[in-house]
Amino acid sequence: MRRPLIAGNWKLHCGPSEARKLALEIRNGLMGRRDAVDVLLCPPCVSLAAVGEIVQGSGIALGAQNVFWETSGAWTGEVAAPMLVDAGCGWVILGHSERRQHFGESNASVARRLRAALAAGLECIVCVGETLEERESGATERVVTTQVREGLDALDAGDWARVTLAYEPVWAIGTGRTATPEQAQEVHALLRDLVGQRAGAGVAQQTRIQYGGSVKPANAATLLGQADVDGALVGGASLDASAFLAIVEAAAVTPA
Ligand code: PEP
Repeated sequence: MRRPLIAGNWKLHCGPSEARKLALEIRNGLMGRRDAVDVLLCPPCVSLAAVGEIVQGSGIALGAQNVFWETSGAWTGEVAAPMLVDAGCGWVILGHSERRQHFGESNASVARRLRAALAAGLECIVCVGETLEERESGATERVVTTQVREGLDALDAGDWARVTLAYEPVWAIGTGRTATPEQAQEVHALLRDLVGQRAGAGVAQQTRIQYGGSVKPANAATLLGQADVDGALVGGASLDASAFLAIVEAAAVTPA
């Protein structure tokens, strides 16, 4: 049985004061729901400490939105994995499509970040997903397969316990367009199969695969009800405490 993971990716929103307020609303609203669902908040780096203080002792996990692969040195503007751990993070998001699209991140750089994050003891969400053009040209399977093969290259069986995949069709992120539950399930099943080929059927059954792309309270239950959908990576709706809490609630009551 895989516990659903609902993660809020706050992107470039919420400096420390706003972040503290939003985290407090989420923490207070979550009472009693953490027994069934894992909840993770990923604010911008400057707000990690503020959110960390609010979620401390609540069971809500804290994560960053990216990490660099070196541990120290002359890398202006970068943040290292041991620094995230020191700042109270247990998690990091890697390979988000906005990083791939706007900052030139590749499968190879995702692989380096992933190795560094795992070495520092972080749990990782690795995002994969196709563009609209790729979907329309029938390339979805090839694209996500390559992203998994190249981005999750060289993981050993033990590493997989700290890796969550997120299927995030690029055309559904921040657009209000959502994959249908059937479209999501089809790719999630393919991803589980790929994990099985690489790490064995037992690991594949344990590995969580989140869906991300315009998840809202109104569509969460049908997406989360799919057999291979083990949670959601939520962008826009995670900035509204009541919407985010409603998605957590949907995950708590929806049998996959
Ligand atoms: C995301 O940022 O990963 C995301 C899925 O965003 P949104 O929910 O806004 O589509």
